[in-house]
Amino acid sequence: MNIALIAHDSKKELMVQFCIAYCGILSRHNLCATGTTGKLVSEATGLDIVKFLSGSQGGDQQIASRISYNEIDLLLFFRDPITSKPDEINDSTLLRLCDVHNIPVATNIATAEALIHALERGDLDWRDIVNPVR
Ligand code: PGA
Repeated sequence: MNIALIAHDSKKELMVQFCIAYCGILSRHNLCATGTTGKLVSEATGLDIVKFLSGSQGGDQQIASRISYNEIDLLLFFRDPITSKPDEINDSTLLRLCDVHNIPVATNIATAEALIHALERGDLDWRDIVNPVR
């Protein structure tokens, strides 16, 4: 599965801790991330992550285009609904695209944990049936 990671600044440490906790599961999938999120997670975990541009430079749009091409199977986007800054990613475009393309998406750690366990159990394998060429 192709998994995309994004975290607003105030949620980056949480994303790092999440990825440390689930490193074993994540290591069996293809990971990509916005620039800073990917850098922090790969440094902390050693996971191999394709790093796009930083969110403020268009990394979110790079991930959005991959969602549009059905190249992302799961999005973990830890957003800060209270103190996110103006130059941080606007979540509505990404979330809309996930709905358009029926991509499982978590915007907080509680849902992310549910999805990562579903991933481990094989509950998301229907994505391979939808997209057998990947
Ligand atoms: P970053 O992008 O991982 O490059 O910081 C995310 C964001 O801008 O919120």
